[in-house]
Amino acid sequence: MGANDERPLRRWKVDMLALCSHHSFALAAWRPRIMSSRATREYRYEKLTWPEINEAIEGNQVCIVPCGAVEQHGDHLPLDVDLVCPGGIARGTGERMADKVLVLPTVPYGYTGHVMDFPGTVNTHYETFIRQVLDITKSLAYHGFKKIILLNGHGSNMPNLDLAARRTNLETDAECMLIAWWHLLTIDKEFLPGWRESEFPGGFSHACELETSLYLYLAEDDVRKDKIKNHISTLNDGNPYLWTDLLAKGPASLVSWTSTYSPRGVMGQPELATREKGEQVYQEAVRQMSDIVDFFRDRPRDTRAHHQASRPSMPIPWGQQDLPD
Ligand SMILES: [Zn+2]
Repeated sequence: MGANDERPLRRWKVDMLALCSHHSFALAAWRPRIMSSRATREYRYEKLTWPEINEAIEGNQVCIVPCGAVEQHGDHLPLDVDLVCPGGIARGTGERMADKVLVLPTVPYGYTGHVMDFPGTVNTHYETFIRQVLDITKSLAYHGFKKIILLNGHGSNMPNLDLAARRTNLETDAECMLIAWWHLLTIDKEFLPGWRESEFPGGFSHACELETSLYLYLAEDDVRKDKIKNHISTLNDGNPYLWTDLLAKGPASLVSWTSTYSPRGVMGQPELATREKGEQVYQEAVRQMSDIVDFFRDRPRDTRAHHQASRPSMPIPWGQQDLPD
């Protein structure tokens, strides 16, 4: 057989290889389709294609939606602290368990109207904010994702995100869980007592020991280290009612303009922050977030039952889901 005689056979081999690599039915013949999906390796939601999103839904993946704010953080931290912190923890979780989670782009603008005395802060009307988050969760639920976690990075988003999460649970057939990243550090009761040096209450609040440490770990070059200065909120003047801390509050609250209780926008003791402490916080938060994803993903749905004597004769108002027959 001469060299020229081999050409048809070689061309046939090349054609078959091309066919195998371009048609999923050929791949499916020798390995499960889901294993070939980028959805099991890529945690960034926006990097998938629509067929890969279908595979992520089939794989019961949990969606994490980081929610933040563009807001002043004193003289020493940039405006993006509440984006960098939850975004970094979500990214770390995605890198650990890309086959189980998808991380959405961070919602950048939050509810921060009380901070508008400081330039740079960008406020979103609370109705706009709640609606935007609901638009995201409802889009996810519509496509078929049934487990959604809002990972918050900005304290004053909480009452608004609480409403957005509740409404997602009532107005879609998905389940939506809300957690602020700093609460991840309270799950292991041993962690914070061994970590925290700042006073309680007041040492943790805003641009404080905690936020500054995590930011030092995630983006050290952006910290103006020569400008770090403590300030405890003047609401913490010893009265038993209005004291505040990131992890607990007095029995009453008087949330007014930030400039009335903090002259430079800091509340807490950032002078106690270090990069090493930030790394410990990051590792602990990612570990706890990963456990929450596993717990939530495996948790069976709770069963609903209506208790009216006879079937209601009209749809439930307010856009909530009716109980199916
Ligand atoms: Zn913050």
